[in-house]
Amino acid sequence: MGCAPSIHVSQSGVIYCRDSDESNSPHQTTTISQGASTLHGLFVKSDAADSIPAVLAYQSRQQPPCSGPRRRESRAPRCCGIEAETQTSSSSLKASATEVQIGPMRLTQDPVQVLLIFAKEDNQSDGFWWACDRAGYRCNIARTPESALECFLDKHQEIIVIDHRNSRYFDAEDICRSIRATKPSEHTVILAVVPRTSADQEETSVLPLLNAGFDRQFMENSSITACYNELIQIEHGEVRSQFKLRACNAVFTALEHCQEAIEITSEDHIIQYVNPAFEQMMGYHKGELIGKELTELPKSDKNRADLSDSINACIKKGKEWQGVYYARRKSGDSIQQHVKITPVIGQGGKIRHFVSLKRLRCTNENNKQLCKSHRDENYSGDNSQSESHSFKCKNRRKDSIDVKSTTSQSSDAPSVQTRRYSSMARIHSMTIEAPITKVINIINAAQENSPITVAEALDRVLEILRTTELYSPQLGTKDEDPHTSDLVGGLMTDGLRRLSGNEYACSKNLNLSHSHLSVPNTINDVPPCIAQLLDNEESWDFNIFELEAVTNKRPLVYLGLKVFGRFGVPEFLNCSEATLRAWLQVIEANYHSSNAYHNSTHAADVLHATAFFLGKERVKGSLDHLDEVAALIAATIHDVDHPGRTNSFLCNAGSELAVLYNDTAVLESHHTALAFQLTAKDSKCNIFKNIDRNRYRTLRQAIIDMVLATEMTKHFEHVNKFVNSINKPMASEETGSHNEGSDCECTANMKNFPDNQTLIKRMMIKCADVANPCRPLELCIEWAGRISEEYFAQTDEEKRQGLPVVMPVFDRNTCSIPKSQISFIDYFITDMFDAWDAFAHLPVLMQHLANNYKHWKMLDELKCKSLRLPSENNN
Ligand code: AMP
Ligand code: ZN
Repeated sequence: MGCAPSIHVSQSGVIYCRDSDESNSPHQTTTISQGASTLHGLFVKSDAADSIPAVLAYQSRQQPPCSGPRRRESRAPRCCGIEAETQTSSSSLKASATEVQIGPMRLTQDPVQVLLIFAKEDNQSDGFWWACDRAGYRCNIARTPESALECFLDKHQEIIVIDHRNSRYFDAEDICRSIRATKPSEHTVILAVVPRTSADQEETSVLPLLNAGFDRQFMENSSITACYNELIQIEHGEVRSQFKLRACNAVFTALEHCQEAIEITSEDHIIQYVNPAFEQMMGYHKGELIGKELTELPKSDKNRADLSDSINACIKKGKEWQGVYYARRKSGDSIQQHVKITPVIGQGGKIRHFVSLKRLRCTNENNKQLCKSHRDENYSGDNSQSESHSFKCKNRRKDSIDVKSTTSQSSDAPSVQTRRYSSMARIHSMTIEAPITKVINIINAAQENSPITVAEALDRVLEILRTTELYSPQLGTKDEDPHTSDLVGGLMTDGLRRLSGNEYACSKNLNLSHSHLSVPNTINDVPPCIAQLLDNEESWDFNIFELEAVTNKRPLVYLGLKVFGRFGVPEFLNCSEATLRAWLQVIEANYHSSNAYHNSTHAADVLHATAFFLGKERVKGSLDHLDEVAALIAATIHDVDHPGRTNSFLCNAGSELAVLYNDTAVLESHHTALAFQLTAKDSKCNIFKNIDRNRYRTLRQAIIDMVLATEMTKHFEHVNKFVNSINKPMASEETGSHNEGSDCECTANMKNFPDNQTLIKRMMIKCADVANPCRPLELCIEWAGRISEEYFAQTDEEKRQGLPVVMPVFDRNTCSIPKSQISFIDYFITDMFDAWDAFAHLPVLMQHLANNYKHWKMLDELKCKSLRLPSENNN
């Protein structure tokens, strides 16, 4: 007979029958002893099963019979009288847990439990029994309504199968209703086994079944496979969904106990959920809020229009909004809250909910309101709850940042407050009146008597003014495009991620020679093909790559001679053309022709763009001759001895240059210093040797300032200063005067403001340095190819040397060049050139920029990662 099943009697007298737990016996026989039937006679009240245990529990670990004609010995536990017997095959199906993911939550689903409610054992109940076995489910059989309910309340099975084929033994719908009346059945799928309809019978509606609480019907079919298919479909569909929904209870429990106020609304701002902390903060009961539209609730009128417009504009785009606003509590008081509103994308990729997290700001006013509310309000009634949700203001005080709110917090301790205030005042009086200190003091004073909205706005201003990076936009780290974040990280940081070791050796063999190159004696005796090309040098569409080709990669000397001549540089410096030529040769020789991008062709290109900008009316009118000379020299030297690696790379590698310049503007400092060194080293190439000391110092200062301005960490600082100091005043002057002559006056005025001239020169060299996206398409594509190649080579070397990869998207095997160009243009170019164009008037450049952008977009949309479409590759 094999191992005996474990049998025990429940409190109410229901008999559970299990096969013994660890048995691997291939021919296990589950037996219910005679004694069990006696017990059963005492407790089970089913007339249908007068000698059968009311519930048979079967934990599956045996293989059901294979398909094909069922053999008698393969029946499910027979409980007639004394015996339940299963004849199994040898291999066991282990009931195993399944991993299920819901959102960011990982869950483990235990094997499914099934309750079969069949008054009498027959082929159909056997079919489900063995189907459970095959599927690895745990299965119980109940014979009576009472035992079924008891078993369900004990085990909370995920699936219940109720025999609904005849009503002789029990009313299946009644059983279903009584199970549905229990709380745990919320997550249970109930299946009705209905009689097969014969061909002449009409199909009946399932509606009465659904109304009784069934989820679906199963047409009588005792094939194990049919039962198995039905059960596993239910498992993969409804049971899995219900399992996930049950996990939401954990999330709701977290929300209910969270100390931050949380509100969830629909996409139409209908409130769907608020947590107890929210009720407490706002003084409403959730019943008064849920189902209401946000706008129906009383709101602070101070707060309304513009703020809610800007919030809406932000969150409707799917972006998170964070800020401070006023909310009116039910009592009518206004409180200031830190609010974070996050849109939640749901079905159809649309925004389906908004989740708002609110924290009270710790201001004097809020503290008062809170103390008051603690006294006045008692709606929660439950002391333990109100304590756990009470506002722990102390913890939140770290948000306060200004002197005013720091001093105003300790309303309960005036002596401490006064002491702190006077010490702050002392600190104030000790501070040297730097412009920023003056500004902060003025704002603090203005806050004292301002309405709360103004004080609040000024709080934000102070917060911003206290950051060190006033001009750098804060790039969201998570959701930004990886091309943008890599470019920003790669170009706008210095050595933040510096590693020690692995020295990067920058060229130590400075090239001081200028004699080995065959160059013309004067600009007048250049070879005709070069001279012909240079005839077009004043045009924006001038092709620098043709010059590179005909000059054997020495375009800087030729273009330099021509351009410096055109702008009267030798005259200004009082130097011979030979000295200028020798100087250009030395400088060009110190560019690395092996760099894909940062070679002397790039320097020539920047020189070309600078000369072009200097020819623009507004620019010419704003600058002096010295500024022009400085700009042309700065453009020429601005990347000399560039190693073809970024500042971040040099810092990470702990290179000599990075050590020398303390990881700060490493390359730009090196280009400038080296250029002056090279110039001074040999009088034959010293273009400054004939100018007086003062002029030299002014010129040198202007050159250094411009080269350092090409450093990308300061990009937004330079652009924003230009916009604020040049574009904006000019725009308001223009709209104010409507005067034809005003343009001239306006630019002439710049000459009276050296600071403005500096801003113009910085902006000019910056724009010249990265003007490649504004060149005609073919030139733009060539530059994009060159810079990408240089970045790829850096990534290769970083990998080889085990250095941090500064711009992982620039991997030659995976990079999308169009995407990188789109990001570069979006992030660095568009705004800067808009501002520069507004000043210098550059319609041709802006047109090229628009065309080129379209080109990259088109490639990106076609999922093309290279410089052009494959069909155009041989162009
Ligand atoms: P500079 O090193 O002085 O030429 O500074 C300009 C910066 O902009 C450099 O870091 C270049 O690598 C970067 N840059 C210029 N053109 C592009 C481009 N088309 N795509 C990506 N980065 C660029
Ligand atoms: Zn450059």
